[in-house]
Amino acid sequence: MTTAVSSDKKLFFDELVKVVGRDWASMDKEDILPYCRDEVSQALKVYTADYVVMPADVEEVQAVVRLANKYKVPIYPYSFGVSISSAAVPRNAGMMLVTRRMNQILEINEETMTATIEPGVTWSKLIYELNLKGYEVLPLGGGPHSGSLVGNFVLGGGNTGGIDMNEEVSIEVVLPTGELLRTASAGFIGHEKINPYVRVAWGPNLTGLFRGSLGWFGVVTKLLRRIYPLQKIQDRIEIAFDDFTDCVIGMREIVKLGICRQVYGLDQAQIAIIGATPELCTQPEEYWKFEQTLPKYMVIAKTNCHLEEQKDIYRKIILAKAAEYKGRLVTFTGTTKKALDIMEQGSSDMAVRYLRHNPHLMAFVQLPPSMLPGARKKTLEILDKMDFHMTSFHNKVVPPRIWLSPWERNESWLMEQDIEFDPLDKVSIDKFRKFMVVFFDEMANYGASQINAAFLRRYEDRMMPTYINMLKGIKKMLDPNGILAPRQVFKDI
Ligand SMILES: Cc1cc2nc3c(=O)[nH]c(=O)nc-3n(C[C@H](O)[C@H](O)[C@H](O)COP(=O)(O)OP(=O)(O)OC[C@H]3O[C@@H](n4cnc5c(N)ncnc54)[C@H](O)[C@@H]3O)c2cc1C
Repeated sequence: MTTAVSSDKKLFFDELVKVVGRDWASMDKEDILPYCRDEVSQALKVYTADYVVMPADVEEVQAVVRLANKYKVPIYPYSFGVSISSAAVPRNAGMMLVTRRMNQILEINEETMTATIEPGVTWSKLIYELNLKGYEVLPLGGGPHSGSLVGNFVLGGGNTGGIDMNEEVSIEVVLPTGELLRTASAGFIGHEKINPYVRVAWGPNLTGLFRGSLGWFGVVTKLLRRIYPLQKIQDRIEIAFDDFTDCVIGMREIVKLGICRQVYGLDQAQIAIIGATPELCTQPEEYWKFEQTLPKYMVIAKTNCHLEEQKDIYRKIILAKAAEYKGRLVTFTGTTKKALDIMEQGSSDMAVRYLRHNPHLMAFVQLPPSMLPGARKKTLEILDKMDFHMTSFHNKVVPPRIWLSPWERNESWLMEQDIEFDPLDKVSIDKFRKFMVVFFDEMANYGASQINAAFLRRYEDRMMPTYINMLKGIKKMLDPNGILAPRQVFKDI
């Protein structure tokens, strides 16, 4: 598909302004660029779009999408751009459709324990408003709470807790033709007002089609999500391990207990990056000493309880299980404790710390826990063979930092290894790109799977043709003009 020629561009823009008003559409590069990138893409490649638009409501989204069909202008939905996986970038120019102005919590329903929100509602906003009413959402995990729940859903995100994540009840979505779809019981005309709360209704679960779709199938304008009574007593248990396999297996057994709200694992270099003060990062020797005081591996297990007695019993059970795998309780004080406290709240401040050494891209694999030590070993072998080594603020070589998240209970854990590169050095970028190709190929041989739909671009020839044909068939049916997020999921569509 080609983008509109100049005179058409002007006509298109004039019509766009009529829909959203002069203040909410732009063709100026300065206005557009901030919405064309995320942490990862900006380090690797400059993407540019021709327009940015911020509709105020679902009717405006529909009108914008219809206009884009008329002029054949690609649309890339974008909420807060913290996906860290080049998920919201304009691969084929066109228009960035930013959903931030639709930022209302439409309902908190205490009977059905659901919240209905617009796509511009951030995790921070929902968590804050829910807490005031004595409710909470299941935690996202390590991500910054400046991101949105809708962005997370469309990205296909998960949590870091070993909890099953089926939190979305239904969605309202503007399809690529501009038509409106409401899923689950809200699909019954009139039920969106009287009973949109039935998650599995009227046949197959259409909501699931949009999870992980990267905006390819439609623009989500409403999300109904489960909420839970707030358990005010929260406990965080830090458990040290000396060995990676002990850490992984110990953590797996803690997840099996089924009493933790959140569980994740870090290696020493990762704890140091998160825990160090900005001043320490400028003092290599001091930083090195600090890093050496930290456990080689650490599991963080978090419980939420109604009663103090419950908290104490949970703590006892978790520590006893950890001890079976040589895990021991650690207690942090001072600035490291403060840093971990902030991380616990999923703050953006902490996300900045976590990303603050060289730009890195996460080499992800999703595998059952016992397969991770082998995958880690293989990663280090690939890096050694390529003479590709990471350092930290002490300037000494460290293996790539690890973040372990039980993504869906123990069925699939996400192991993130942070592969750093220098974005100003072509040799470094080339080496990084080469590593990523070898890494993902090797991990596929291990049975690795990926959350982000953009991986289909890489693995298309290894997927079942039926799988690919079905996805492409759905895309063609929903989006005959190839308007929404072209080339985001596959290279050609
Ligand atoms: C340090 C760090 C840690 C993170 N940890 C986690 C984690 O543990 N678990 C996890 O799941 N995520 C994690 N993330 C990823 C991210 O923070 C979340 O998934 C976040 O909620 C994404 O929201 P966003 O609003 O920025 O989405 P965006 O980046 O703006 O968009 C994400 C995707 O959704 C599409 N999209 C956005 N809005 C719409 C819409 N209205 N309709 C249709 N498509 C849309 C975009 O095109 C894109 O494909 C982490 C991120 C960082 C920076």
